Amino acid sequence: MGSGSLLEFASKRARLAGKSILDSGNPWFVPLDRLRSDAQSRGRSLVSFANYDYLGLSDRPEIKKASAEALERHGAGALGSRLVGGERSMHSEFEHAVADFIGVEASLTLVSGYLTNLTIISHLLGVKDLLLIDELCHNSILAGAKNAKAELVAFRHNDLEHLESILKEKRGSFRNCLIVVEGLYSMDGDIPDLPKLLELKYQHNAWLLVDEAHSFGVLGKQGRGISDHFGEDPNDIDLIVGTLSKALVSCGGFLCARQEIIDWLRFTLSGFVYSVGLSPVITATAHAALDIIAAEPELPEQLRVVSEMFLAKARAAGLNTGPAIGRAVVPVMFGDLRSTMLASQELLKKDIYAPPIVHIGVPKDLPRIRFFLSSRHREADIDNAIAVLKEQDFQAAPAIESVF
Ligand code: PMP
Repeated sequence: MGSGSLLEFASKRARLAGKSILDSGNPWFVPLDRLRSDAQSRGRSLVSFANYDYLGLSDRPEIKKASAEALERHGAGALGSRLVGGERSMHSEFEHAVADFIGVEASLTLVSGYLTNLTIISHLLGVKDLLLIDELCHNSILAGAKNAKAELVAFRHNDLEHLESILKEKRGSFRNCLIVVEGLYSMDGDIPDLPKLLELKYQHNAWLLVDEAHSFGVLGKQGRGISDHFGEDPNDIDLIVGTLSKALVSCGGFLCARQEIIDWLRFTLSGFVYSVGLSPVITATAHAALDIIAAEPELPEQLRVVSEMFLAKARAAGLNTGPAIGRAVVPVMFGDLRSTMLASQELLKKDIYAPPIVHIGVPKDLPRIRFFLSSRHREADIDNAIAVLKEQDFQAAPAIESVF
């Protein structure tokens, strides 16, 4: 009847998933307390392309000072749901600053970006509603979609003609319709056509949610996100989701919308109401990072220069960078799983950290190494990484089926 203990079950699953490839070197879970910036004190020095410190703020003394002061003055935890005891004045100060920076009416913070997508999508939609998502949307959006009782249809990645045909066919049969896209796709480094999306949203009386996890601080002249990039009014996007974990070098998520919408969510959104308020330390860290981004528009500009340089050099070396536009995220595609693993292991041997991204993070036939760029990467870092990938014939390695 039973199938054995949980331990037996898990080790069988791991074996079937091809765990043995890790015997030749494990490129995941490499502890990055050995980044180049503190190499002198800790031995081996790694250049990381695996972190979303897009604007290079993680080491800034102003931010460390702000978080240390917050810890000293307010303690580590908010110690309650904000509705009933966890509210701190720094929460609303930060939320106003986020909304002002993006140019929208209001924002609300939650304890993670993942939770933000999960809770908002299922909160908004019911059985009579239609949810249309780009097929490459992040797992947190899929989790929200699974929790929502709405009819779910995925449209082909960035194919707005496909989206339009679904809207024409289905919109009339449903009460509300939510379209969900990302501002910058985290695995492919490309962006949706926001002006066209807005046109479709108005034409078909739909709502639009844009997850700006990777585009906040990155896209546009000032790094205000995808509306900044296209010169559109951010208030035309019904809901902007963001995270504090990327350009803001902290941890947490936020939602931006019209004031009345945020006021309603403050009392009703389960992931907000039934979860603790942001830790004061995290809030102060993210706020200090936001202040720097607002004061130093040269940072997103430097990131653009570095990212475009990486893209141009990778392409010139004959590497396949997929549809990336050259902002913060650039994948290098490989023909199969084993060559992706070997390439990543080879990079690590040369003190460059860029782990492989394989199924289920990306489709089975499109394994890749995803490079996260930072305004602080130097040209030599880029040249070294590309030289490793160019020199080796990874494709010649024998194939394997999967790793986890
Ligand atoms: N949305 C997207 C597009 C993401 O890539 C991620 C995580 N990388 C999240 C949401 C979740 O954000 P967090 O890690 O801050 O919870």
